[in-house]
Amino acid sequence: MLRIARSCLTAGACTEGVLAAALPCRNIWSSPTCHQAEPALSDHVSAAPDSSSYPLGAIRTDWTREEVTQVYDTPLLELVFNAATVHRMYNDPRMVQRCTLLSIKTGGCPETCTYCSQSSSWRKETGLKAEKLMDLEAVYEAAVRARDSGSTRFCMGAAWRGPSQVGQGQWNRVLDMVSRIRGLGMEVCTTLGMLTPEQAKQLREAGLTAYNHNLDTSPEYYSKITSSRKYEDRLETLDSVRKAGISVCAGGIIGMGEANMDRVGLLHQLATLPEHPESVPINALVAVKGTPLQDQAPPSALDIIRCIATARITMPRSVVRLSAGRLNFSRSDQALCFMAGANSIFDGDKLLTTPNNERNEDLEMFETLGLKSRPAFLPYAAGGASSSGASLQPEEAQPLQQAVAAA
Ligand code: SF4
Repeated sequence: MLRIARSCLTAGACTEGVLAAALPCRNIWSSPTCHQAEPALSDHVSAAPDSSSYPLGAIRTDWTREEVTQVYDTPLLELVFNAATVHRMYNDPRMVQRCTLLSIKTGGCPETCTYCSQSSSWRKETGLKAEKLMDLEAVYEAAVRARDSGSTRFCMGAAWRGPSQVGQGQWNRVLDMVSRIRGLGMEVCTTLGMLTPEQAKQLREAGLTAYNHNLDTSPEYYSKITSSRKYEDRLETLDSVRKAGISVCAGGIIGMGEANMDRVGLLHQLATLPEHPESVPINALVAVKGTPLQDQAPPSALDIIRCIATARITMPRSVVRLSAGRLNFSRSDQALCFMAGANSIFDGDKLLTTPNNERNEDLEMFETLGLKSRPAFLPYAAGGASSSGASLQPEEAQPLQQAVAAA
């Protein structure tokens, strides 16, 4: 169990174990067994709550479902406190990345995701018209605008089952988009459906930073969400992405009628992949009229905060992205999301086909909360892989760390 001494005097020589190697102890509650704690303070505090017997701060891919359940079920404020503690071990908590998501090919998708307005299966009900793949120049110009407004990651989504369904000309155009935008110094992410190992390799060669492929929900609930593919298909694509040397972006959607145990199941799957995804988007369902999930009540901000905190504790180094569905969240809701370990948002007033928060409002929120925009390719504060998926050498990491300090 993690117990941290208030005003701890050990400054890193903590004998409690978990924190000793990770960070100087500078946090709140006193451990009854910590002989370095200020005696006067420990006299005045009650014992730390006892529900957190899971280890905090360890990078593990062997989480059991019971352990993830235990994390998820922790009383909310204690959970947020624990997640905030872990967040500070690996990340600068003031750094939040601003990302832009563009739909480069909208509608007409042959898949049957019940939450999605772009499936051709409910085209008549949603009234969404299928569009062609955007031109290279139009996408490039959108990326330049995003970069100039402070976005450091540009994500492109195509409503495809996968690149295998389209001709070589369209595929080459997507590869050209990746190369051109990578040249802007931004992280480049795509979400294009199922990939073969060869397609993943081509994306990597084009300079792709990350590939998004959400697991959406638990394996048990997945058949309620789509009938046109299996959970194993998702895992196979993630495997191809990882093997190609591309950074993995995989998360899910909360509020699709799933039970708490499905949320735990999703987070357990992500936290027990052979390596944690570098990027974990947590989306709140945006129920679109005409889709099978149109009448689903939105999840509460507290539901999302609980999922973010659980993701942060089980995948300490990942960038946890507060993604779709925050339009109705108050600034205080979002502040708790960041406290719980979220370190990315999508900015811009549209996410694929659904509305999103205005950029100016987000900039005001950053100002109010004292947040800073996270630069592209920022390595984890504790060292190790950058969001490019590649390990940085110290001489590469140093200028980035200096940029962060100066930001
Ligand atoms: S979520 Fe993606 S794969 Fe599913 S229907 Fe929508 S565009 Fe197609």
